[in-house]
Amino acid sequence: MERPYQILLYYYFRPLQEPQAVVEAQERLCRELGLLGRILVASEGLNGTVAGPRAATRAYMEHMRDNPLFPGIEFKVDDWHEVPFLKLHVRLKNEIVNLSAPEELRPWEESGEYVEPEEMRRLLREQPEDVVILDARSNYETRLGRFKGALTLDIDNFRDLPDKLHELEHLKDKTIVTYCTGGIKCEKVTALMKKRGFEHVKQLHGGIVRYAHETGGEDFEGNCYVFDGRVSVPVNQVNPTVISPCSVCGAHTVEMVNCANADCNAHLLVCHDCQQQLEGCCSRDCMHSERRRVYDGKGIYYRGVNSKKFVKTGN
Ligand SMILES: [Zn+2]
Ligand SMILES: [Zn+2]
Repeated sequence: MERPYQILLYYYFRPLQEPQAVVEAQERLCRELGLLGRILVASEGLNGTVAGPRAATRAYMEHMRDNPLFPGIEFKVDDWHEVPFLKLHVRLKNEIVNLSAPEELRPWEESGEYVEPEEMRRLLREQPEDVVILDARSNYETRLGRFKGALTLDIDNFRDLPDKLHELEHLKDKTIVTYCTGGIKCEKVTALMKKRGFEHVKQLHGGIVRYAHETGGEDFEGNCYVFDGRVSVPVNQVNPTVISPCSVCGAHTVEMVNCANADCNAHLLVCHDCQQQLEGCCSRDCMHSERRRVYDGKGIYYRGVNSKKFVKTGN
């Protein structure tokens, strides 16, 4: 399939004196270039994922690299056959990724040392005993896919992570390498862990996305959860596997949907066969809901687009 569009993933930690001015400038720039996606700005920096035609994403990257606020900004770039966003959102937030740690964090000077993708590949292959690979993401992400041998935390949301760190006390003498989707969560997590006495904590530079680009994704098991219309993307071109069970029948699948019952809307793994049988619902019960939405074969619902088309159930 032809892929004339690009999806950019990027972040930048630094103190911003006038975040509201950055919001306005980003909004203007993206509208001018015709980019869609989501950009969060806070007094600690900027976090974005935007997409559009190649010429537009290229112009955006050039513009950002020339912007004195973001020297050396790094982009993860994926080619795709469509734009996986419906709108542009540029928002002012308290944090550019919401960890809600009680400690004040300054990731630009406190975060963990980088582990580059090639070094990560070696660690995964050799599994040295004094190194722990820690997944900094939430259950719905780690369930879909993770690095071989990685330790996962039982959290439904990133902001639950600070309360879980005490479970890792026994690992304080080990080297801990954290990873996440694109690297931004780890900038904060490693800064927090260092504050809490984890002395040897490092982070995968650029996250799973950059690892996939640079190493072919070796030893990543399953798919990667992404925060755009693609939802679940392959990582591993070297030794791929599928590890996540369909929440209905248990068969392995990488397909994630929202339950078609608007009152349930659960975000979960449902295999292709079960999606067909349950018409995009997560259970027979949900199939009988009066607020069952029309299943379009994708199972993703957008406000104002397909979220209000209900099936007439006749009961
Ligand atoms: Zn199934
Ligand atoms: Zn349901």
